[in-house]
Amino acid sequence: MVMESKVKRADYRRTNAFVCPFCGALCDDLIVETDGKEIKVENACVLGTSKILARYHSRVLKPEINGKEVSLDEAIKKAAKILVNAKKPLFYGFSSTTCEAQELAIELAEKVGGVIDCTSSVCHGPTILAVHEVGVPSFTLGEVKNRADLVVFWGCNPMHAHPRHMSRYSVFPSGRFSQSRIARKVVVIDVRPTESSKLADLFIRVEPGKDYEVLNALRTIINTGECRFKKVGGVEVEKLFELAEMMKSCKFGVIFFGMGLTHSAGNYWNISEAISLVKDLYRFTKFGIMPMRGHFNVTGFNEVCAWETGYPFAVDFTKGYPWYNPGETDANSILSREDADAMFVLGGDPAAHFPRATVNYMKRIPLIVVDPFKSLTTKIANVVIPSAIAGVEVEGSAYRMDSVPLRLKKIINPPEGILSDEEILKRILEEIE
Ligand code: SF4
Repeated sequence: MVMESKVKRADYRRTNAFVCPFCGALCDDLIVETDGKEIKVENACVLGTSKILARYHSRVLKPEINGKEVSLDEAIKKAAKILVNAKKPLFYGFSSTTCEAQELAIELAEKVGGVIDCTSSVCHGPTILAVHEVGVPSFTLGEVKNRADLVVFWGCNPMHAHPRHMSRYSVFPSGRFSQSRIARKVVVIDVRPTESSKLADLFIRVEPGKDYEVLNALRTIINTGECRFKKVGGVEVEKLFELAEMMKSCKFGVIFFGMGLTHSAGNYWNISEAISLVKDLYRFTKFGIMPMRGHFNVTGFNEVCAWETGYPFAVDFTKGYPWYNPGETDANSILSREDADAMFVLGGDPAAHFPRATVNYMKRIPLIVVDPFKSLTTKIANVVIPSAIAGVEVEGSAYRMDSVPLRLKKIINPPEGILSDEEILKRILEEIE
């Protein structure tokens, strides 16, 4: 899939500082060249490269209603009709699209009196709940690169899920005040050895489901200098004393955490305890904590939804005003109660990630999917509308995992007749109006 770069046709284009539209690290140092047909990518990891080149694979190219090819107008009319006739349509996904499309999706959900939720509710929703309770000390990835001398990865495996995170932001780069890997200590805490733990100075293996106990013991050691147990959560207490000392004595430490903390026993209490640990460390040094966000613009949905409705995800408009109560208003809770009578999915693949019972319910209600690619959700959809790939075929805004907004660039035109998510949402809104 590599282009002959010497063939410089009229539609040749080279873009520096191209932003990768795959994961929440939003690496913005890619170099992308195209001759209008094929693309060459430099600097991206294998995940980013395959996303940018994926435009050639598994595309949805024609709108469909119940498996039959139809015109775009027919698909949009049908989608609008389903949404208008539904009493409680559920809107879900929105983490792999632009902020501009997210804004329109929220407007659409409000207009038809539905519920809107994003993929946060099955990843870092517990993180958001913990932040509501105890706040969060924020910082940027640039500060990590320039200042951090202790980096802790807890319940996440960046080498696998965010392959350039370590090399671009957190472990290997030389910053203004930190001298590359040599001057940084790296700690990995997980339930099993991973690709990331092989690179760590200290690996702490926690028994599955015991992160809360370990966090609590660590806070006790930091605050009192004592611990009356020999082992906590499967970890020798000497190792926790060693980690506590590393944390207290660093100049600027950070904890990056993943779904190993948010979706194990303890759930949002784990995050609340981890944030409180960071607050305890303020008595000794500077410290911060950040979730490793997955989809490239899941953070963007939380930002856009918060400024549009006052809440970051799982917002119910059926009462005529925004109502937020995760556990009641999130997509899985609604589907498991069989409480939605239609579903609209864009920028997510719930059939691949939701429990079987909720996916079975999705099959029983009218399901509209807007997606550039074939997925498990497009397979069970009644209406499928193909869209352009955000960040490759369409420009727009997205938020990095540290809540820094970046501009996604367009490198190539979408296939003929394919609209952007934004254009499709506008057309549905017009039809409804
Ligand atoms: S780490 Fe994430 S954002 Fe960076 S190149 Fe890889 S997939 Fe893209």
